[in-house]
Amino acid sequence: MNAHLSFVSTRHGTAPTPIDDALIAGLAPDGGLYVPERILQLTLPAKPPATLADTAAWVLAPYFAGSVLRDALPALCARAYDFDAPLVPLKGPQHDGRDHVLELFHGPTAAFKDYAARFLAEALGALRTARGDSDPTTILVATSGDTGAAVAGAFHRRPGFEVVILYPEGRVSPRQAHGLECWGDNVRTFRVAGTFDDCQRMAKAALADRDLREKRALTSANSISLGRLLPQVAYYAHTALRHRQAHGEALNLIVPTGNLGNAAAAWLARRMGLPIGDIVLATNANDVLPRYFAGAPYAPQATRATLANAMDVGAPSNFERLTHWLGDDKSLRASLRAYAVDDEVIRRTIATAPERHGIVACPHTACALHVLDILRLQGNQRAWSVVATAHPAKFETIVEPLVGHAVAPPPALAACLARPAHGEPLRADDEALKATLLATRAPARATARRAAAIHD
Ligand SMILES: *Cc1c(COP(=O)(O)O)cnc(C)c1O
Repeated sequence: MNAHLSFVSTRHGTAPTPIDDALIAGLAPDGGLYVPERILQLTLPAKPPATLADTAAWVLAPYFAGSVLRDALPALCARAYDFDAPLVPLKGPQHDGRDHVLELFHGPTAAFKDYAARFLAEALGALRTARGDSDPTTILVATSGDTGAAVAGAFHRRPGFEVVILYPEGRVSPRQAHGLECWGDNVRTFRVAGTFDDCQRMAKAALADRDLREKRALTSANSISLGRLLPQVAYYAHTALRHRQAHGEALNLIVPTGNLGNAAAAWLARRMGLPIGDIVLATNANDVLPRYFAGAPYAPQATRATLANAMDVGAPSNFERLTHWLGDDKSLRASLRAYAVDDEVIRRTIATAPERHGIVACPHTACALHVLDILRLQGNQRAWSVVATAHPAKFETIVEPLVGHAVAPPPALAACLARPAHGEPLRADDEALKATLLATRAPARATARRAAAIHD
């Protein structure tokens, strides 16, 4: 038996793996997703830890017991989680002061993916140092918007790493595009003349290319990477503990959902013993999860483009983790619920949110706000916390006409928008990407690194 917790693949084809190797690999070699071999139970503190970073170190410590990063974990968390996740009361008669919005958009790129991307960057950086790795690692990310910016921001100017971002030209909002192109230095951003699926295909082809991987250490930072799942447990843990202290009850969550990464972390936090009650998923018109939870067989669909573009997912990649943990359909359906929200309702919800809820909502957050209405119509009278996954200023072309005024970007996003853009054009062609990757400065390396598939 291993002295420390190992990580196994959802597809059962990988030997139990120590956390450090699982973090570096991202995806398991059999193509599955890494999960802890057992979900650890926490002994809850009488008082919540003082800061989000303290909670993160506490919640992650048992998983990192066998890591070379164990002793460095508190310092690493202090750097990664250096902005808060405030739980703010929703205003309006129907809320009665009981409902809240959990604002996860106070990081450098104004979306919740900043927390996990920053933790991953800290962890991979520290692992390189600990292992005396001297070859540069290239992080390849195909993005439909928020992942690319968060990963670029987290790895920007970090020694030993290069970031290559592929995004579909003309298919992200102007501010999202600038957020992807504002970095420079060790970050190269390519506007691909194609769709997100083209970007994803190109990245997958590069990561699967043995010739390329013999010459470059290539890895990914996609939403199924173990190093992106675990750190997301921290803000749910912190919020649930503070909420219980303030209100004496469990936190009920409505989570805007695409690939199910954020919601899987909420589920994991609950399973680890944190005071989290109901978890309800809000999707856009890509309704594979709502159909499934309503009783239909799980049936991935082609992706539909919607106003909540970061949730345009037809085959939620983290579903595999939930089925691994929960086993059968009955347990899964008993554990979570999901509702779909179409673009017309997203628009109406954004337009009425200032008056009805006291907030300006991004299109993703609007889906969750509408699901709160659905629950109330069903007669549900619990207090709910709606998760806000991005700052509305990131989607200004959608939000501003609906609310009728300008939405000022938060300071970090404003700073990014003020910097020059460094995007480069790229054909939607696997060979074009390979040639570009080979032309960069990184020296050849002897051993190939594991590759992972990319999802936003
Ligand atoms: C990525 C993203 C989502 C979806 O999160 P998943 O973990 O893929 O379910 C929702 N909202 C925003 C703003 C995002 O960037």
